[in-house]
Amino acid sequence: MSWEENVRKVVPYTPGEQPKVKNIIKLNTNENPYPPAPAVVEALKNMDAESFKKYPDPTCDVLVEAIADFYEVDKENVFVGVGSDDVLAMAFMTFFNSDKPVLFPDITYSFYDVWAELFRIPYKQIPLLDDFSVRIEDYFGENGGVVLANPNAPTGAQLPIDAVEEVIKRNPDVVVIVDEAYADFGGQSVLPLIDKYDNLLVVQTFSKSRSMAGMRIGYAFGCKKLIKYLLDVKFAYNSYTMNMPALELGSLAIKDRAYFEKTVSMIVNTRERVKKELRGLGFEFADSKTNFVFAKHKEKSGKEIFDYLRANNIIVRRWDAPRIKEHLRISIGTDEEMDILIAKLKEFLG
Ligand SMILES: *Cc1c(COP(=O)(O)O)cnc(C)c1O
Repeated sequence: MSWEENVRKVVPYTPGEQPKVKNIIKLNTNENPYPPAPAVVEALKNMDAESFKKYPDPTCDVLVEAIADFYEVDKENVFVGVGSDDVLAMAFMTFFNSDKPVLFPDITYSFYDVWAELFRIPYKQIPLLDDFSVRIEDYFGENGGVVLANPNAPTGAQLPIDAVEEVIKRNPDVVVIVDEAYADFGGQSVLPLIDKYDNLLVVQTFSKSRSMAGMRIGYAFGCKKLIKYLLDVKFAYNSYTMNMPALELGSLAIKDRAYFEKTVSMIVNTRERVKKELRGLGFEFADSKTNFVFAKHKEKSGKEIFDYLRANNIIVRRWDAPRIKEHLRISIGTDEEMDILIAKLKEFLG
């Protein structure tokens, strides 16, 4: 008998590499290439470190209120956490307590199965079709819950929102989580449906469209009852998930609608340009409504291209996994960064 027999053994999630060296073009974790809103930069300079001697507000009021204002919902419809990873983990813990399996695609955000394993939630991964689209009928059978990233990651493909609504409608007895980490880049949100369906949780993040991955702010919307259950679990787990700077800076970031819209549209423009260039170079991909393109080359292997870029100080993301090992997920950086990427690809493929 050893203490190790009593250990909860898990296979952890592998985050994208965060290289320590400078002069690298980092297109591997879908970070936003632009800085956070100017008010965030300013407030950080003037932050009073003395205030840190106290605990932060456990209800996260300033941030919850700013989010509720921006999206025109009530504060009781909003939950916040330490990145959407924290929000999603808390949601898995709160809503998935059935003996039936929780359903999500085989190719999707690779944290879902990690949380399911961690919390001992039964789950079933449903293969996407060959073109990486979701067949919604696969989600109509008996289950313990449904998780859909929309647009999906890492495929970038968007499921039309009436199809998402059909999944929600067909599953009234379980919670359906829609992970909208990328919805701001041209996808459509199911947020308006929280009034119509009490089993819907919509999860979003400051990490991509709001340039604050390092601050760790995520949030979710749902009917008031759903959010209350989530809050009960949060307060049973850790009262102070959000730190003071995150609460203050997050609330400032979300108030600057103009900056948000400007930077998002810059990324969308760059993305559309990059799509054309990649197509011209012989890449194929599902149409992306995100800040990345998930592309496969007609001739060269994913690994060859990945290694070549890496040797040239450009990092993209690649998974050595069935069905997607020839694909590269390329985040959309600034125009200058993408020009260098395209030039290097031309050198290699041309
Ligand atoms: C980036 C991402 C998240 C996590 O983002 P946080 O930084 O934890 O807010 C969640 N889901 C998907 C699909 C993502 O791509």
